[in-house]
Amino acid sequence: MEKIKLGISTCLLGENVRYDGGHKLDRFLTDTLGQYVEYVPVCPEVECGLPIPRESMHLVGDPDSPRLLTTRSKQDMTDRMVQWARKRVIDLEKEDLCGFIFKSDSPSSGMERIKVYNEKGMPVKRGVGMFARIFMEHFPLLPVEDEGRLHDPNLRENFIERIFTLKRWREILSKKESRGNVVDFHTRHKLLILSHSPKTYQMMGKLVAKAKNLSLKEFYQEYQTLLMESLKLKTTSKKNANVLQHMMGYFKEQLSADEKKELLEVIDHYRLEYIPLIVPITLIQHYVRKYDQPYLKEQVYLHPHPSELQLRTHV
Ligand code: SF4
Repeated sequence: MEKIKLGISTCLLGENVRYDGGHKLDRFLTDTLGQYVEYVPVCPEVECGLPIPRESMHLVGDPDSPRLLTTRSKQDMTDRMVQWARKRVIDLEKEDLCGFIFKSDSPSSGMERIKVYNEKGMPVKRGVGMFARIFMEHFPLLPVEDEGRLHDPNLRENFIERIFTLKRWREILSKKESRGNVVDFHTRHKLLILSHSPKTYQMMGKLVAKAKNLSLKEFYQEYQTLLMESLKLKTTSKKNANVLQHMMGYFKEQLSADEKKELLEVIDHYRLEYIPLIVPITLIQHYVRKYDQPYLKEQVYLHPHPSELQLRTHV
């Protein structure tokens, strides 16, 4: 697979672009995820023409449409930032991004819970950074996260699963349009989708079944929307345990009573959060290889991202 293109707040790459001339290098993003990703850096404050170093800024006013002011001299940077951001998101369309990693807590780049100050100088953590808001409105289906949230193993896993899936979907989009290509993609992703949303899994099944009644354009668009919406929903140990039990059904004939008992126990221990997901997955992978199970062999759910990222290892 080619590298995945992700937008990123420039300071997270270790560039000295912050208001104080420093950076916020995040080693997981550069050294670990960076092996699979080509980053497109965006620093809203520098790219809209502000110097390094510069006066710090914050959001002020209505949390739903705040102004961006410098902290000490109260210069209003809102119009400058908004005008630049509207052009920048149009430029970014060309990059074919599979997601964006924002810098948390920034009035320009933060994606959620950013402090917005009222006229008495009291903050509420309900704002969205000025560029992040315009970006997310422009690309509503793209996976986005901030580096702080990516320290949570569940959120990290979910984001990485989404960007790898979107990259595989983009590969389908780069081929000649055909219902067969989408059906093939769907077949390989069925269990992954089921682990995020049993409801959307059913809707996608119905969509694929009626594909012939839709124009190719409608089919692709509806499929893509459902795919991205399903993956936005987080997996849970209950949903994963359901998928694991479903997979076990494919070995009904082959597994001995003892092997079935062991697998059920491992799935149950995972569901109760005693052991990480990687344990039942490894056992099922073993049976898939041993019995050469053709449907499961193709399931992305068993290997949605490189093992080197060490996901699915937490409880
Ligand atoms: S948080 Fe955003 S605006 Fe601030 S330095 Fe980082 S990239 Fe630039």
